[in-house]
Amino acid sequence: MRLILIGPPGVGKGTQSALLTARLGVIQLSSGEIFRKEIELGTDLGRMAKRYIDHGELVPNGVTIEMMAKQLRADDVQKHGFVLDGFPRTVKQAEALDEIMFEMGIQLDKVVSLEVAEDIVLERLTRRMGCTRCGEIYHSKDKPPHREGLCDKCDSPLFVRSDDQPETIRERLRVFHEKTAPVIEYYARTGSLQRVDASEGPEETYAQICGTYAK
Ligand code: ADP
Ligand code: ZN
Repeated sequence: MRLILIGPPGVGKGTQSALLTARLGVIQLSSGEIFRKEIELGTDLGRMAKRYIDHGELVPNGVTIEMMAKQLRADDVQKHGFVLDGFPRTVKQAEALDEIMFEMGIQLDKVVSLEVAEDIVLERLTRRMGCTRCGEIYHSKDKPPHREGLCDKCDSPLFVRSDDQPETIRERLRVFHEKTAPVIEYYARTGSLQRVDASEGPEETYAQICGTYAK
């Protein structure tokens, strides 16, 4: 299984790819997570990416494509399939991905566009916290941790992403409309696009992605 999740920040790409990984065994390739790892490790790539990420801007296509191409060529990804979350985010990246997959002789099974009203996205992002260790995502109202500031699963401290500040959130949404909405059109033209309403809970969204949703 090889699929792509596209959608605005806060729509739940991270949550859905974690579910897909846990239940279908595909490898999660989240460009945002990979950048945050690089930043944590203090690599050159991380330092460079941080300048863009903290302003809500996209990291330049060249380095992003190179980084993701390397991930896609990994043995376990070839073996188990993947769910791409956060990549491609520009039409250039989508074209590059087509080329990489063509070279590898593989094809996409599905491109999912997760769609939700903007006020819901804002609400989700401004209340979002993540676990520093296992990546579990919490929400101060809808899914608060049992003990304040600590992960239910692994007891590690929770953190608010540096780009989850109101100013940066607005910029990320603007960038989504300008640069990433055309990627959805790109896949709509090739016919592999599936639009999913992501305004309900994680399980409802997941069922729609898997085509087992009954309302
Ligand atoms: P979200 O979807 O909630 O905005 P991500 O974790 O996917 O969060 O991405 C965080 C940031 O990382 C983005 O705002 C951007 O700066 C950078 N980034 C992630 N993926 C890409 C990409 N494919 N191309 C360029 N920049 C990216
Ligand atoms: Zn945890």
